[in-house]
Amino acid sequence: MSSPSSPSPGRVSFVGAGPGAADLLTLRAAERLRSADAIVHDALVPFGLLDEINPTAERFPVDRDQEARPSPGTATGRLLARLAVEGRTVVRLKGGDPTVFARLTEELEPLRQAGIPVEFVPGITAAVAAAAAAGVPLTSRGAASSLTLVTGREADGKADGLDFHALAGLPGTLAVYMGVEQVARWSRELMESGMPTGTPVTVVSRCSWPDQRIGASTLADCARDFERAGWRSPAIVLVGAAAAVPGGPLGGRLVVVTRPSGQEGDLMTAIRAAGGDCLHVPLMEVVDPPSWHPLDDAIVRADSYDWLVFASVNGVRAFLRRLAAAALDARALGTARLAAIGPATRRALEAAGLRCDLMPDEFCSEGLASALAAKAVRGRYLLVRAAKGRDVLRRDLEARGHHVDEVTAYATQPAGPPAAETFAAIDAAPVCWITLTSSSIVDAAVRLFGERLSAWRIATISPVTSEALARHGLRPTVEAATATAAGLVDAIVGHETASGLRPSAESTGPANLPPSSGN
Ligand code: SAH
Repeated sequence: MSSPSSPSPGRVSFVGAGPGAADLLTLRAAERLRSADAIVHDALVPFGLLDEINPTAERFPVDRDQEARPSPGTATGRLLARLAVEGRTVVRLKGGDPTVFARLTEELEPLRQAGIPVEFVPGITAAVAAAAAAGVPLTSRGAASSLTLVTGREADGKADGLDFHALAGLPGTLAVYMGVEQVARWSRELMESGMPTGTPVTVVSRCSWPDQRIGASTLADCARDFERAGWRSPAIVLVGAAAAVPGGPLGGRLVVVTRPSGQEGDLMTAIRAAGGDCLHVPLMEVVDPPSWHPLDDAIVRADSYDWLVFASVNGVRAFLRRLAAAALDARALGTARLAAIGPATRRALEAAGLRCDLMPDEFCSEGLASALAAKAVRGRYLLVRAAKGRDVLRRDLEARGHHVDEVTAYATQPAGPPAAETFAAIDAAPVCWITLTSSSIVDAAVRLFGERLSAWRIATISPVTSEALARHGLRPTVEAATATAAGLVDAIVGHETASGLRPSAESTGPANLPPSSGN
């Protein structure tokens, strides 16, 4: 109890951090983190987030599994009480939601005894985040009228009192937390208790983390598939028909997406729609150009051009950013018309309320050059492009007598190396595809993955990308017929279907080999 001379006890906020991604934290949680001077956290919380929100608060890591037995949680509760009695503003930060599988009862006891005020700030619990990531409902009229959160970890020889007969008979979805290590045991118990062996199982491993994976299996196969597919902890397993991810031709396939962060969305969505599992390993990152001057100058003179030509989404984004920075808007473009190299670039223009006047049938520099040539009028062109890149368009337009200015709107550079776990996940996958979407990504992939590339299936987005690959003595398994995310996935699906390999976690073996290997 506080005496007049001692500080008044601080408050302890039990705050849910959500599954890991910064934008899945609630505003209230962020506010509590900002005003805390002591943060007691466990292993599943996103550390980058703490650094960003409150780099100065003292941190007290607590490892769930190392906590003192026989009453895990109590030691943490005592730590919280001590900090609060010192008058500090304490946040007890927990992964997901602080009331779900979080040993809350034990942690609260010492605080209640010391009369310390406590509050709860909810977080997005892993089951809910997992359903959102997999794009499936947890309940549905008809297929699932209940949602049950269960632990898959047997504590000290007992399955935490779970009644598997009752669980097997529930007309709904089971969300299994902490289920990875003992998947063989709980899946067997459910089957022995009468749950059909073919019950769909959806696994979301490392939900919202950079190496998130989503996999599909059945109750009978999930123990084996965990091993084979390399789905790692922490993972949520959703058991039940409502939460089944739709099957598709890429079932059992892991597709590595190498696009820069922020540009992987379309491709990941298309792969998942085809039933594939994907892993995002960004190989290049988009950075500002060495100077903004050329672009800024061109923007001020934008209405002096006949055509503004955009060769990528990045170019559109940078152009719009600098336009806004100069306190200008679409009116500054005057009568200039806008051309985009392909559908994603066109969408980026349209999203900003700008009409795209021209998009070629073939989504490459050559296609753009001939589409512009068909316009025939001599004119002034502004090409908005990357620092490095091909010169095809400028040369072609100049050869036709046009005036061409080129400005650099962004640069790319190799991204930092991925975590060792990324390699583990890829190596564990039974069949692995890698998608290569530019020449610089090809070079980065060869540098990073080396020999591994010749064991995987490679999908390139265009002939130019395939040529870059050939310079390393490799050829693609498939090349997209159209240079879009959908074209790339169509090519992969076409290969899987045509090669008669009915996708299953069973089939293995690469289809691409370097020409020099004699195969
Ligand atoms: N309080 C947390 C649960 C803690 S128990 C919550 O509400 O989510 C730890 C278990 O939560 C893990 O074993 C795993 O099953 C699940 N989990 C936590 N974070 C996860 C994540 N990012 N992806 C998948 N599962 C996660």
